[in-house]
Amino acid sequence: MGLRIKKIWAVLCFAFAMGSIANAQEDLKKAPPAFSIDGQKSVFIDILSSHSRLRIDFSKRVAFVETVIDFYQAEDGYALFDLVPSLLTYEIDGTFSPGNKVLEVSDPDKVTLFRRLPEPTAQGKHQLRITHSLKASANLVFGASNVDFMNRMSDRNLDGNVFGRGYMERYFPSNMEWDDYPFELRIEIEGLKTPHRVISNGRVTRVSDLAYVIQFPEFFSSSSFFFHLLDPRFYNFETVKVVSEGHEVPLTFYSRDAGEVRSAAKLAPGYFAEIESNFGPYLFEKFVGHVTPAGGGMEYGGATDSSVWALSHEMFHSWYARGVRPRSGNSGWIDEGLARWRDNGYPRAKDEALKGLHEKLSGFSPYKRDTSIYAYDVGSVFFSKLDRLFAKHTSLDGLIPVLREFVQTYAYQSISTEMFQAFLQERISVDLQPYFDFYIYAKK
Ligand SMILES: [Zn+2]
Repeated sequence: MGLRIKKIWAVLCFAFAMGSIANAQEDLKKAPPAFSIDGQKSVFIDILSSHSRLRIDFSKRVAFVETVIDFYQAEDGYALFDLVPSLLTYEIDGTFSPGNKVLEVSDPDKVTLFRRLPEPTAQGKHQLRITHSLKASANLVFGASNVDFMNRMSDRNLDGNVFGRGYMERYFPSNMEWDDYPFELRIEIEGLKTPHRVISNGRVTRVSDLAYVIQFPEFFSSSSFFFHLLDPRFYNFETVKVVSEGHEVPLTFYSRDAGEVRSAAKLAPGYFAEIESNFGPYLFEKFVGHVTPAGGGMEYGGATDSSVWALSHEMFHSWYARGVRPRSGNSGWIDEGLARWRDNGYPRAKDEALKGLHEKLSGFSPYKRDTSIYAYDVGSVFFSKLDRLFAKHTSLDGLIPVLREFVQTYAYQSISTEMFQAFLQERISVDLQPYFDFYIYAKK
């Protein structure tokens, strides 16, 4: 199993190739339904490849982004994609237009927003070129002689006005979670002499002290990407190595606080070993962690921005959340419920009765992106019940062996609640539907 995965990484990671049309057609089957606005059909696209050039103008305190996306659409219509900042310009198949023509449109259930091209494009392949700017913010900070830019993301609807659009679309053109695609990001700083550095879960190539190229694996989707452009004078770094399936995996931690880095680097190998022993081989070639002195954390594919306190929770998400990815806000409860169940020490329920916490965690609009805040506590109760059922009614030692098989089977793919339920059900004779109905769908 591990060998197969390592081979997949090697094949996927190095060849920066455009995705095939066959893959695009498969991916588009995971998209929510197309929808019409004023008789105009909005269609989802599959990104075949994306290249962005981020040019940071230090003197003007602004960053400009130019992106070229090759995409495929399976039917004629008005192409939908994601980008929270306003566009400056766009070009579709070489035809140039001002960016203010690309409006935000709502899905029919009004749970999120998309960008939509103002002219229809035909079934087939197209090229979209977009420019936009990023202003100074809490995540793009201009110092006296340095820049600090991290693509901080969120899978909850913390910022009400973006309608769950908390992933890469906050910074770069992107797509919904069911779409994985190869992304190459070039970062350049103008107007500075101080050498900078990029930390990322992609492969970083240094072009100069002030220019870097990152290539991300083609199985990454909008929630996976992590990069941090920083001035290394202000940070402390420590790398520890662990062995996974006979391969060395570097775990790199960095922080403005040397003590936090030491703590993270000391604790992480133990967390890694525990999670790997339960859930199977690690799925990425390295792990990077930005360590903060307080608060919680956020997970990326083989990366985190986290306090030491939340570190093991966030590392677990490189198996559940970014190893297998929830396809939408209807399946985000799985990884948060599991992470909390693990935080709690994998408790086993005392009985099989349908009682206790339950909230609607799935069965929402297919366009929903964000995960319910109840996913943690209700999910944890639900998994403690399942653990009891699997311990009592199968030859397995509880739920963990099934979870291990699931994450290794669906590694690098997006999954739905229905896929997860079907996988569990195949491995136990007890009908799980009442448990899903009660805890996850909160049916009366
Ligand atoms: Zn979490």
